[in-house]
Amino acid sequence: EVFVNPNHYDPIDYSNWWVDSSKTPKMNATMVSLVRNNELGDMLRSIEQFEASFNHKYHYDWVFLNDVEFTPRFIKAIKEKVSGEAKFGLVPKEHWSYPDFIDQDKAAQARIDMQNIIYGSSESYRFMCRYQSGFFWRHELMLDYDWYWRVEPSTKYPCDIPDDLFKYMNDNQKAYGFTLSLHEYEETIPSLFDSVLNFTNEHPEYIPHKNFASFVSEDQGETYNGCHYWSNFEVANLNLWRSKQYGEFFDYLDQRGGFFYERHGDAPVHSLFASIFLPMDKIEYLNIGYYHGPFWNIPYAVESISASEEDLLEKTKDKFTSQNCQMDPRVDFTSNGFSCGNLYFSLNKLKSLKTVPEEDA
Ligand code: GDP
Ligand code: MN
Repeated sequence: EVFVNPNHYDPIDYSNWWVDSSKTPKMNATMVSLVRNNELGDMLRSIEQFEASFNHKYHYDWVFLNDVEFTPRFIKAIKEKVSGEAKFGLVPKEHWSYPDFIDQDKAAQARIDMQNIIYGSSESYRFMCRYQSGFFWRHELMLDYDWYWRVEPSTKYPCDIPDDLFKYMNDNQKAYGFTLSLHEYEETIPSLFDSVLNFTNEHPEYIPHKNFASFVSEDQGETYNGCHYWSNFEVANLNLWRSKQYGEFFDYLDQRGGFFYERHGDAPVHSLFASIFLPMDKIEYLNIGYYHGPFWNIPYAVESISASEEDLLEKTKDKFTSQNCQMDPRVDFTSNGFSCGNLYFSLNKLKSLKTVPEEDA
């Protein structure tokens, strides 16, 4: 049993992360998109859907980040679509380059050796993953906020989102929210779990008593099952990444070079940390209509394990109707085999439908 701390306390102090939301019309929150100039069209389409499903009700700010300057054309077109304030930031060079302890020849060789793995030969993809893992929350435009919602170009929001998810997270004292989850390609992270175990051995006092490590390891810490929250969608409290524990965790992984000598994604990095170092009740499945190619999350009803199939079907139909879902409900991925949704449900004593019968679709 690796992920067990017998002491009944929560090492990350989140006591001042939550506010009395009845005192404010909206949360101190922003959307954030890391995006390239040549993704303008895809970004605009995402914004259009996102505004229609959610943000037209709240007008939250939206921070756009890029490793090169945004063009005036990009800035003008985006500003016209975002209903809150749109802000545009340049990623500082030192957050998007090689740290001095990285052997760049070894990194170049890794890109050759990993040519047959998705993004394996890409240098920019590695800078991107390292940035999302360790730096986006340190950008000066992000410093004023408590919450963020990550939105990527080409993602879709095909249903109305009935609640202010930031408020929901705050009011229910949740720190990290996801919609889609799935298994990582093992070839991109051969040493990641070993690094995590080593870090954990050095800091067993960082493990909360009721953690969610069972979501990432189904054999008590022997192996990583690859399950990760898909980080193209995240609604989370920025203090999580600002915590001393995460800072040390990121530095530890960074020093070991896996962002460059392998191809560590920010999704498994965020997910392993959140699952192991947060109490499980701080992590929440946000069941909204969402698409990031090639997978959909369809808001099927999720109920306690004792719910009947009829009840689930009835509630699911109500959700589709009330949320105006604009797609075929049968494409849901969360209840599918390659997803980790079912593991999440069973660990939380929840259940959902496997699929919606054809006649109801
Ligand atoms: P995938 O979802 O893993 O296939 O990766 P994406 O290509 O969607 O990249 C993830 C996010 O990072 C998206 O929001 C991209 O727009 C952004 N991104 C990826 N590479 C770069 C880059 O080199 N520069 C900038 N500015 N954004 C990038
Ligand atoms: Mn993407």
